[in-house]
This record gives sequence, structure tokens and C-alpha cells, in this order.
Amino acid sequence: MTSTPVAMVLHGGAGVLAKKSYEREVTHMRGLAARGKAMLNDGRSALDVVETIVYELEVSGLYVAGKGSSPNTDNRYELDAAIMDGETRNAGAVAAMEGFVSPVMAARKVMESTPHVMLAGWGANRLAEREGLERVEEPESYYVPAAVPDGRAYATGTVGCVALDAQGRLAAATSTGGTLKKTPGRVGDCPLIGAGTWADQDIAVSCTGQGEFFIRSLAAGTVAARIRYLHESPEEAAQWALKDVKRLGGDGGIIAVGRDGRIATPYNSEGMKCAVLHADGRITAGVQELS
Ligand code: ASP
Repeated sequence: MTSTPVAMVLHGGAGVLAKKSYEREVTHMRGLAARGKAMLNDGRSALDVVETIVYELEVSGLYVAGKGSSPNTDNRYELDAAIMDGETRNAGAVAAMEGFVSPVMAARKVMESTPHVMLAGWGANRLAEREGLERVEEPESYYVPAAVPDGRAYATGTVGCVALDAQGRLAAATSTGGTLKKTPGRVGDCPLIGAGTWADQDIAVSCTGQGEFFIRSLAAGTVAARIRYLHESPEEAAQWALKDVKRLGGDGGIIAVGRDGRIATPYNSEGMKCAVLHADGRITAGVQELS
């Protein structure tokens, strides 16, 4: 068994309001980075860590995922999530699922309890039910939708986490309530393996931003392909993928961690809420803002 430095990045979305204080989110994310550090130093797998951290982000109600999700135009809450294990390239995802507290836990059940990669709509709900996952009994009182930045038709606050564990394994998970006032049935990039979420033996990636552009540019898969075929660093590859998103007219952010512990957190939106456990053990957290 090899032992490598551990590293982790988590994000709380690429949408920020210019005048809003994100003190609560930053404190929360810093705490989760410390929690991830403890888990990784304890020998927990990258897969367990990304699931746990994304679950905590979902139930906090501070981001546009899980409890903080936005309703669609029918005033219903349809949530997307994915998880991927870089070591085995097993993956699980749920799309437009309703009525459960943790889409990321449902995504892991798809990965481990079915022969499939993605379940959508009522099929995802039925699996979650069968697996005994926690239900949202009263959507109206449970969800606390986030505010929308001025001039934006959507709220971006997807959550995600990428991690490298002590055995050199990588994993990624992403969860979202999607875009505000989305069309019923709309599915974003997060649950699409290779668009918003990816992990292999070299890199783990989670994206946030206008999902349609991340799908059309195959953002997460592009980061991985550039590393595999062009031997770029995580930063170079993620920057390139974001530029491609921009060329199509979108914006957002990408978090990534490589197998040597190098991380990348580029964004080209107004900012991105994120926290990093660096390979040297330092923890940093903040809302990076372009000015
Ligand atoms: N990527 C998400 C989606 O399009 C939104 C976000 O990142 O906040 O569903």
C-alpha cells in the first residue's frame, strides 16, 4: 500500500452577490475542509470523503443544493447529483429526483446497488425509497431557496468536492438544485459524467456554473483528457476548459485535484466559494472575487 499526501477541494458554487457577506459559508466550508482532513488522515477513502462533505453541504441550506435548492417553474424541487470513484471509474448519478434529503447519497446507491450509472425522475426516487434514504416530508417548509444575484436569471450555488486519499485514490462528487426557475425535467451538467463531474486515476473534477455550457464543452472530461493526452497540470487543463465554456457564452468555476496533490480552483464568473486542503496540510477558504 502506497502512502501519498492527502488533498481535497470543495466548492459552494460559482455565483456570488457583490455586496453579500459570505462569512457563514466560508466558516462552514473551512470547517468541512478540516473534517475532510481528519477523515483522510484517518485513512478513509476519497469516495467516502467526497460523499460525506457533499452531504454536509446539501443539508446546510447555505448553497443551491439539497436544502438550499431553488424550485422549478412548477414550484417543485428537482435535484441532480453524481459521484465518481477514480480508481475503478465506477460512477453513480441521479437526475431530476424529488423528495429526498441527499441526492449524493442516492447517487452512491445507484453506483453500488444497481448495474447503472444514472437514474432519473421517478426511477431515482424509487431507488432512494427502496434504499431507505431520508425523505423530505414537507418540501414547502424544508427548502430554503437561495437569493439570485442581480441581473442573473439563475442562482449558481451548486456544491462539489474532489479528494485524494492516502492510498492515492481520487474521487469527485457534485450536487445541485440546478438553475432557478428551471423548466421541469431540466437536467444540468452535475449528474452527467464527463460534463460536471469526473474522476480517474490522474484527476478528480467538479464544476459549477451554467450547466448547459459545461455540457456543450464536456468540461470535466476535457480537463481529464488534457491531462492524459497533453500532460498539462490540473491548473492549465482547468483554465483551458473554462475558456472553452466562455467561448460558448457561459461562465463558472472548476475545482480539481491531481494524483500528486496539485489542486486547481479557476473560475471566470464573479467569484467562487471554495475551501482547499492543500497537500502540505494547510487549509484555505474564501470567496474569490474578480474585480
Ligand atoms: N451547474 C449547475 C447547473 O447548471 C448550476 C450551478 O453550478 O450552480 O445545474
